[in-house]
Order: sequence, then structure tokens, then C-alpha cells
Amino acid sequence: MLDVDSHKRSNPLEVLRRVWGYQEFRGMQGDVVDNVMSGQDTLVLFPTGKGKSLCYQLPAICLDGTAIVVSPLVALMRDQVEELKELGVAADALWSEQPPAEAADVKRRLRAGEMKLLYVTPERIAAGGLEAMVGRGGLSLIAVDEAHCISFWGNNFRKDYLALGRLKEMYPGVPIVALTATADPHTQKDIVKLLNIPHAEVFVDSFDRKNISYEILPRSNPRGQLLDFLKRHEGESGIVYCLSRKKVEETVEWLNESGIRAKHYHARLDPAVKAANQDAFRLEEGLCLVATVAFGMGINKPNVRYVVHLDLPSSIESYYQETGRAGRDGLPAEAFMVFGMQDIVQRSRMIDEGDASDQIKRIERAKLNALVGICETTACRRQAILGHFGEQHPGRCGNCDTCTKPIETWDGTEAAIKALAAIYRTGERFGVGHVIDVLIGKLTEKTKRFGHAELAVFGAGKEFNAPSWQSIYRQLLTLNLIRVEHDEFGAMKLQESAGAVFKKERSVTLRRDRSVTRGAKRSSETSSYSSRSGLSADDREVFESLRQERLAIAKELGVAPYVIFPDTTLIAFATSRPSTLDEMLEISGVGPTKLDRYGARFLDALEVALR
Ligand code: ADP
Ligand code: ZN
Repeated sequence: MLDVDSHKRSNPLEVLRRVWGYQEFRGMQGDVVDNVMSGQDTLVLFPTGKGKSLCYQLPAICLDGTAIVVSPLVALMRDQVEELKELGVAADALWSEQPPAEAADVKRRLRAGEMKLLYVTPERIAAGGLEAMVGRGGLSLIAVDEAHCISFWGNNFRKDYLALGRLKEMYPGVPIVALTATADPHTQKDIVKLLNIPHAEVFVDSFDRKNISYEILPRSNPRGQLLDFLKRHEGESGIVYCLSRKKVEETVEWLNESGIRAKHYHARLDPAVKAANQDAFRLEEGLCLVATVAFGMGINKPNVRYVVHLDLPSSIESYYQETGRAGRDGLPAEAFMVFGMQDIVQRSRMIDEGDASDQIKRIERAKLNALVGICETTACRRQAILGHFGEQHPGRCGNCDTCTKPIETWDGTEAAIKALAAIYRTGERFGVGHVIDVLIGKLTEKTKRFGHAELAVFGAGKEFNAPSWQSIYRQLLTLNLIRVEHDEFGAMKLQESAGAVFKKERSVTLRRDRSVTRGAKRSSETSSYSSRSGLSADDREVFESLRQERLAIAKELGVAPYVIFPDTTLIAFATSRPSTLDEMLEISGVGPTKLDRYGARFLDALEVALR
């Protein structure tokens, strides 16, 4: 461990360089650190990946005494403790189901004043008595991580967090630092109010995650679309979200049959399997984790290279939170989603059949509509998403699908009239599949049975194929010209506003969906992340061998590879190729402790790779 007292005379920047090996603060980190060190309450609103942890870890190292960090999940606490220990910082955790001998040891070291950071669950700190446990240095600060869990408004409300409202009373004079990646102003107000920190200085960083690219495609052939996407991410780790447990299981089985190494995760999985799969995701590289939204919080892995949504999430907030798990290390990452009309129908049904109050249901419907708006937009997706969070972006980000492959629009009035007429003539009793069969003149058992082959609209829409009509119907739904009755097996009905289209008083502009399987160019691109990070073929090979070495060390020590060195550091090794320990120390992410532990091994690995 580092000599705890040696930091006292250091300024924060020196500690950043000495402990983490980072050269500069990122964004507003430096200002936050100053504020915390001056003893003031602080609220930190940074998006995922901007480096929130450092905002309390660094002051904790510099200040006298022990910092308490409240964290909602044991897995998350242990991950952070592991990382700090690798940096040579005295940190540990206390939680309820901890083996007694281990807990006793933590408490002993705490009393001896040896601990700079102690991670605890909310119940543990609310139970009180921690102050008596810490040594003469007392408490330096209290950090409340994932502070949005205190708000009933957000989607991660935790009852235990409410007890944190008493902290200010229990430990007056100890500064509180609350941190969250949830931007919503309502949640922000709740945090300040419920934690009792009305005078907290608030630091808000831009929520733009520049390194994440966004792509949203209409679902046509979801397995082909997914496979196509995953081929570009060979050897990389990522998450594939599905709505249901059943779909998670089917998808993972099919992926493994298709030669993609995948594991699954959902709330009802056997706890041992769940833990094993979560561990595998942390400890291994190149694993695809197929999961419901039960998976995610507490995943600290910085090199998640992609997040896929095979089903529509419930809101833009959820979409952003889930996709935000990609690319925390700042290297390029992809968010990819497929969606279709069925998603909108299914989500609406979940809202309607839920037991929330009418007011909450109205909010949920509005949230769903806002998300569908993002899916259907022809403008820059990043601009639309950030706009939803109240942040202005000039658009044309150059890193979303609507920017890199602009969407064409077309006058779809005639098509809309045909589509609406087909619903009307078949009696507003049928789902989208059958109505499309009628439009394209497909003779099925059903079209014959209901006499729909005799209608004038039968075969009237042969100029488009079925996927195109799907796209048209989805857009009519978004435009609120039709609705879908889920209690009548998805029957489409006309909305009053459809009248104006029939009478040609209203024209309909539609987006021309890109052909739903990717164009040849895109799928033949080899864009694994080492190549996307701009590495030459040579450097990429070196990087791969360094990655192997890191994995080997991680296995020996039983820790996650990223706590040894982040990918950004390995990439810097591969490109600048240090040949001495001194040169290595110059590289971002290399501090003296890690240099001491791993420097020689990576120098050897470099030498072998360059032979
Ligand atoms: P958050 O909690 O905001 O999602 P983390 O604290 O997990 O972000 O940090 C994300 C990643 O960025 C980590 O790998 C961390 O080590 C790295 N990081 C944080 N601050 C800096 C910095 N000043 N320079 C370089 N990397 C940093
Ligand atoms: Zn864009």
C-alpha cells in the first residue's frame, strides 16, 4: 500500500498523476475535487464514463480520515475496491452477508485508521455507529453513488436509500458528495431534497457520449441483422438486451449455435448461474451477454464495445442509460437497435395492463412516444436524444446513422390512402400481417375465408413489398393516423385524423427506410475496435498480444483484466512501444504501483511481440 501520509502535502493533480498515472483531469473533475476538498456538499451529474468515481476517490486519498462510500450493489462495491487496491489505495467494503472473519478484519483496520475508503451498503450506514469504528482521523467525506436511487421518480428507486436522508443529521460537518448519471431535473431536485443538502454545489457535465455511435433500424430479419452486426465485433465484449426471459434464452442458444460465444442473464435465472455469467462477463474478453434489463447496474467494465436492443426500451431515459454502458473507456463503441410496429403495440399493452395510476400511465405513454419519435426521426439522433434531456446540440454529429447515411423522405400520401383504405375495407378487425396480405394480393386461407380476395383493395398495393408496407403502417401509427387495439389481437383501427388524408386535405411525408439488411459495403467492413481506434495492422497485432498477456495475469490473480490496465493504456503501449520502465511510466494509466507490479511483464510481452 502507498504511504497514506505521503499524499497530504500533495496537490490533487500530483495525486492524480502519482496514483492513477493520468496526466490531466477529465472535464470538470478538477473543479469537483476542489469543491469537495473545501468541505462543501456537492452534487455531481456526469454521464457514464466521464469519471465520477475519481471525484470522491481522489479527495478521500488527500484528506485526513476515512471516506464512506454508499453504493447500491455489493458487486459494484467489490469491483471498485479491487480497482483501488490495484492502485495501491487502502480501501475495503462492509456488507451484511460478508463472512464474519472478513468483516472483523475490515473493522480492525478501520479502527487502526488504515483505511482511506470504506464502501458500504445503504442499510449499513443507516444503522449508524460507523463514526465510532473509524480511527482518530474520523470521517473525511460521505459519497453517495448512484444517488438517483433515492428518487421515486427514476426507474431504479431503492427503499434503503431513503434512510440516507438522516446522514446530514448523524454526521454534521462531514461533506456529502452525491453522484449520478441521471440527467432528469426532477430526479436532481429529489436528490438534493431527500439527502438534505440544499446548499450543495451542482456540477453538470454535457451528457453527450461522443464515442458512442447510434444506429436504429426497422426490424426485418432480426437474426440476420444481429449476426451482421456482431460479425463486426469479433473478439469484443458487448450486451444484447431483449424484453423477455424467453427471448433471452432463445437468442443465446441460437447465437452459440451460430458460433458466437454468448451467455445469458435475467432476473429469474438460478442465482448461481446468474453470478457465474456476470463474473464471466467481467473476467473474460470477447463475450456477448444476452440479457433483460435486470442486467446492467453494477457493471463497471470499461471496454463494453457495443449495446444492442432487439426490442424497444421503455423510454429515452432507459435507452440512454442502457446504451451508456458501452465505451466507458472513451474508445469507439456502438449502440444498435432494431424495432418494429409490434414493439409499439407490445409496450402500449404493457402500460395499459399495468397497475399504475392513470396519471402515471399517461406519463409512460408520453415517454414511449418520445422514444418512437427518436426511432423515426430523419434528423441527427444525437441531437434529438440530447434535446430530450434539455441539452442543445447543433446536429450533424457525424456519428449516428441518420448523419452518416441521411434518410430520404418521400410523398407517401397515395400509399397512405391505400393503407388506410385496406384497414377500412376489411372492417378494422385485422392485424397488420393480414391487411398487408390483402394489399399485396396474397391468396391465403384467411383472405379466402373472409372474402377479402373479392375486395377492390385486394392487390392494390403491389408496387411495394411486405416490409415496405410494414414500414408505412409503423409510420402511420407514429403519425397517429391509426391505432392498434391490443385487446383485439392487434386489430388496426382508423383514427379520426385519417379522414383528412382520405379527403386529400392532409399530405403524408414518409421516411424511406434503408434496405433493412445492411448494404454490402458496410457488412464487409472489418471494424473490430482495434482497427476502429486507428491502429495499423502491425500495432493491432502487438495490441492483441498485450491483451493476451493481460488476460493471463488477470486469471492468475482472479481479477478482471481491466483493473490491471485499461485498453487505452494497452493501445498506447502498442503504438509508442516503451522499452524501459521509465518510458512506460510516461504513459497515461501507468502509476508507480502498477508499474511495479506489471511493468516488467508488459515490457517482456512487448519485446516478444516485436521480435
Ligand atoms: P463513471 O462512474 O462516470 O461512469 P468511471 O469513474 O467509471 O466513470 O470512469 C470511467 C473510466 O475513465 C475509468 O476507466 C477511469 O479510470 C477513466 N478515467 C477517469 N478519469 C480519468 C482521467 N482524468 N484521465 C483518464 N482516464 C480517466
Ligand atoms: Zn448525428
